[in-house]
Amino acid sequence: MRLPRVHIDTESLIANYRTMQGLAPASVCGAVVKANGYGVGLLPVVPLLAGAGCRLFYVASLDEGVAVRRLLQNYGVPTPDIAVFHGYLPEEIPVYKQYAILPVLKTPQALSSWFSGDHGPAVVEWDTGMHRCGLSPALAEEVSLLDPQRLHHIMTHLAAADDPDHPLNVQQKEYFIHIARLFPRVPTSIGASHGILLGPEYHGRYVRIGIALYGGVAHPDIHPVVQVHAPILEMRTIAAGQSVGYGASYVAPRPSRIMTVGFGYADGYLRSFSNTGQALIQTKDGTCFDLPVVGRVSMDVTTLDATDLPESMMAEADNVVFYHPQQGGIIDAAHRAGTIPYELLTSLQPTLARWVVGDA
Ligand SMILES: *Cc1c(COP(=O)(O)O)cnc(C)c1O
Repeated sequence: MRLPRVHIDTESLIANYRTMQGLAPASVCGAVVKANGYGVGLLPVVPLLAGAGCRLFYVASLDEGVAVRRLLQNYGVPTPDIAVFHGYLPEEIPVYKQYAILPVLKTPQALSSWFSGDHGPAVVEWDTGMHRCGLSPALAEEVSLLDPQRLHHIMTHLAAADDPDHPLNVQQKEYFIHIARLFPRVPTSIGASHGILLGPEYHGRYVRIGIALYGGVAHPDIHPVVQVHAPILEMRTIAAGQSVGYGASYVAPRPSRIMTVGFGYADGYLRSFSNTGQALIQTKDGTCFDLPVVGRVSMDVTTLDATDLPESMMAEADNVVFYHPQQGGIIDAAHRAGTIPYELLTSLQPTLARWVVGDA
């Protein structure tokens, strides 16, 4: 196998879902699977979560919603709810109806045209301070006159939930409670992954769990889900003073062994890992050895400093691991690259093979 492949730990995925359920025991736990299940893949993720009892899925686009519906039909899962964050275009209405998908309505136009027809229930999003999507709270009185049966739930999204001390958290929550009072018979939804960690007043009837499922939240009971295994393509020895890769950005301070592995930015390994990322080599007995990225990340390959790697480990190895838990997984890697776990995961190209490991 000369291509990188994504390893997905199904047991950890399910354990993470259970952890979040435990943290929001009074809520129905929806799974956010937009962007191809955060880059992990709809196919491995959605049926597993359904098997764990998940009956509410959030996606970004109608296409994704239809894909989730079909996937679950194939697995014989009884009619879960599927909500589309992007809302709808008028010409898409028949598809929403055919697949019984809930649009998330967030503009006055979308709201009035959806509810002027007989189109089934929808979700309504309120802007309580993120100023990205959602209806203005000034419309709450007017919208509250709608038949509550037509509102599957009302939701808002927190802008700074990953910073528990941010004043926006309390402000947005208060604002939303104020709106929700006008909808006493309509279920609510506030928290995504980080919002759930803020405590029960940030949950609502439905929570929307995204990144925590995939191991991208630092919490003792959230486990890493994704690793990338990349094939070792070449080994070479260079002299002190010789450089590695494009731009000669790394100059070896000593005679070095450089390992070239098949995982580059075209596969989803960000170029900002140049001279700062790390991989790991693992032998069958579990011994691990860190290999720092040296030089720039290229399109299909990355170069690692393997100078200190013991010969015995080298002889045994045919691939290296990126985002290994021992190196802090996607969370520490994201810090190194100056980004967030979300971007690392969703950068993984859908064309990479997905290997499902674990018994879940
Ligand atoms: C992506 C998204 C989520 C999930 O957020 P996580 O931080 O990944 O849990 C929830 N709600 C909305 C509106 C989103 O766009």
